[in-house]
Amino acid sequence: MQTGHYLPRSMPDALHGLVTLALDLRWSWHHGSDVLWRQLDPELWDKTANPWLMLETVSDLRLGTLAEDRDFLDLLQKQLDAREAHFAEQSWFSREIDGDFKGHIAYFSMEFGICESLPIYSGGLGVLAGDFLKTACDLDVPVIGIGLLYQRGYFRQALNVHGEQIEFYPYNDPTMLPVVPLRDDQGEWVRISIELPGRNLDLRTWRAQVGRRTLLLLDSNDPLNDPGDRGITSELYGGGHEMRLQQEMALGIGGWRLLETLGIDSPVCHLNEGHAAFAILERCRLFMQRYKVSFRHALRATRAGNLFTTHTPVAAGFDVFEPELTSLYLGTLAEQMEISIDELLTLGRSHAGNLHEGFNMAYLALRGAGAVNGVSRLHGEVSRRIFLPLFPRWPEAEVPVGHVTNGVHVPSWDSAAADTLWTESCGKSRWLGTLETVEEDLRKVSNETLWQFRTTGRQRLVEFVRRRLAHQQCSRGATRPDASQCSEILEPDALTLGFARRFAEYKRPNLLLQDPARLLRLLTNRDRPVQLILAGKAHPRDNDGKTMLRQWHDFISTYQVWDRVVFIEDYDLDVAARLTQGVDVWINTPRRPWEASGTSGMKVLVNGGLNLSELDGWWAEAWTPDVGWAIGDRLEHAPSQDVIEAGELYRILETEVVPCFYQRDELGLPQEWVNRMRESMACLTTQYSTNRMLREYTENYYLSLADNYRDRRDNPEQVSAIERWHDTLLRHSPRIHFGNVSKTTRGDAYQFEVQVYLDDVPVEAVQVELYAEGIDGGAPVRSRLQCGPPLAGAVNAFTYTGSVPANRPITDYTPRVVPFFPKVAIPLEASPVYWYT
Ligand SMILES: *Cc1c(COP(=O)(O)O)cnc(C)c1O
Repeated sequence: MQTGHYLPRSMPDALHGLVTLALDLRWSWHHGSDVLWRQLDPELWDKTANPWLMLETVSDLRLGTLAEDRDFLDLLQKQLDAREAHFAEQSWFSREIDGDFKGHIAYFSMEFGICESLPIYSGGLGVLAGDFLKTACDLDVPVIGIGLLYQRGYFRQALNVHGEQIEFYPYNDPTMLPVVPLRDDQGEWVRISIELPGRNLDLRTWRAQVGRRTLLLLDSNDPLNDPGDRGITSELYGGGHEMRLQQEMALGIGGWRLLETLGIDSPVCHLNEGHAAFAILERCRLFMQRYKVSFRHALRATRAGNLFTTHTPVAAGFDVFEPELTSLYLGTLAEQMEISIDELLTLGRSHAGNLHEGFNMAYLALRGAGAVNGVSRLHGEVSRRIFLPLFPRWPEAEVPVGHVTNGVHVPSWDSAAADTLWTESCGKSRWLGTLETVEEDLRKVSNETLWQFRTTGRQRLVEFVRRRLAHQQCSRGATRPDASQCSEILEPDALTLGFARRFAEYKRPNLLLQDPARLLRLLTNRDRPVQLILAGKAHPRDNDGKTMLRQWHDFISTYQVWDRVVFIEDYDLDVAARLTQGVDVWINTPRRPWEASGTSGMKVLVNGGLNLSELDGWWAEAWTPDVGWAIGDRLEHAPSQDVIEAGELYRILETEVVPCFYQRDELGLPQEWVNRMRESMACLTTQYSTNRMLREYTENYYLSLADNYRDRRDNPEQVSAIERWHDTLLRHSPRIHFGNVSKTTRGDAYQFEVQVYLDDVPVEAVQVELYAEGIDGGAPVRSRLQCGPPLAGAVNAFTYTGSVPANRPITDYTPRVVPFFPKVAIPLEASPVYWYT
């Protein structure tokens, strides 16, 4: 692909470097070039923070003047040099991993939340994907992002005077977005064509630059397409099932085809949620074509390089398509892969024979992956429960789903003041390495400094809210005096709580409203006031969510607390950053276990905010009494129990949070509060960063997946052997059975002798083990038994022996026969298992 110069318009030669800077979305977190943009046009910069749009907009005259301005040109050159120097620098990956890894990690996601100039995300999933790419730039991990360019993205929100949500779908004009057409080496705009029923869909391709990383985007708004098809990529999570299916085909099939067209070698394909699972099929199809192998062979080989990250905490959250619709759309693909459509549909079903069962994208993803992970420790557990039906007779603990807890890209979420504070205490490149010394360094910061830092953060937020509210009110037709009241909204020194997220039922955005009188007392205490800043959108079709929005509106107007409770419209990345940089306490109240991870609470860590949250998602593993507050008892409850957790929330606010914040020493410092801040900042910031997350993905998944994939690609006979082994298991393992099982206690060990009749299963194709469940949530015990002499008079039957420590009842151990083949993931790739009963 061409990555050279691209000019939005004719421009003086001396300023071409501005184009390079404007197209590199690194400006969204690295603010080095801000001064340049401000100089270009201060008003436009404040309004849009989109350098690309500014380059398209400013006059020739202005450009001409700057091209003659020595100081400006010097500054520009400095930025360009700094950028080159940064990219040339070794980073974690190039220092520690490189050499062992060739090629790319293709990262597929339905949404990417990088910055507001490229609005192609809706919420947490997209923000994670954006933070992921930015970190891949920081650590120089060779990731290439694949997504869709939506003409209208996700909706923008306003509220009318009754607190009802109004939805807008402003058009994303591609010339104003910091993306450029993707051109091949001859300069031709790359188009990818995929098959839809009775027609082809042409997808235009775009390139966005995220520092040293590239994000490739596809869109269907091409005049070559049928008029109806041009809108396929118009809205994120809009339209019905059919449009979603079309979008997912564009992403998965179109995306992988694009990588192939560009010749980008990607041993690892990382699916950020099941939406992109069709990439598995396209990868498989192209492998078949190139290596002239069967569908099953190709799937076995390619799946070894696929990682599926699931984000869904309940089975109902998966995309499931009707069988008829799926057959209609995937018929051609099945034909190309020389399998029946039923065989293809089976990949997305829990039961092969059930023709009425829909096509579940998560099942496809799991069946086409070499590894699967959830996004927090708890979500790993929850996912093992959800996917249990695909692994009959396996214990939940062994359902093959691990976890990598999400994080946030700290340099994107820290305030300028936080940046300064952390730079002074921990150094400039603190987020680029392995973060070991951060905790210690931060402990040296004084209480006064920390408190000053916190106070400034809060005050800046209050100023922002006042400006923003004045704007909101005026645009609703408020008279000037009304709008000027906005300057009395909120107090710069009052305890400030933040609550912002999607208004979805499970997030319980109205939990604080369970007892309005009690909330009111908290808010209006004259000596120890509390103020609350809210934001969040309800999905356009989610009426319950919209009702909850209105409930807050009604609360504010009924009790006339508009000066203590404010709702900021149109929650987006910028609002999220403002809030998380300024609040003292971030509140999150999901209904356990629905919050797979949650990331918004992680954004306050670097800025010295504290969390008060339900023990769900990331907080269930992060919380200790030293770093914040928790509600919930680590159990799941019905909605009828909400009132109990609301009571807990009020109680913690009344008896812990408020007193702690307002208890001041003779200098006016809340010592205990500051100590908590320091603990939270020091212990959690690095742990819940995407820096830690991406290193885990690399070390625990990418390296071995890439190895395994290449192994299978380069050793077709090995793959054939795996297929034969699997066939044998499927055919003969139902007749495996046990003979005598004898157990004896010898000293402090239990001795097992187990007779196993293997039918026609070769002895090396299975292992015999003792299995015992883990104690108190610990890992299960698996102890392999040694194969001894054949049993007299029987064909292919053996005595297996072994011992385990006698530190728990002997009845805890159950012998079983499990599949075995070197470097094959069990039970992900082969799941027959036989237990002694
Ligand atoms: C961080 C972020 C999210 C994710 O928030 P959670 O409450 O953790 O799900 C959603 N939307 C925006 C705009 C964000 O910045």
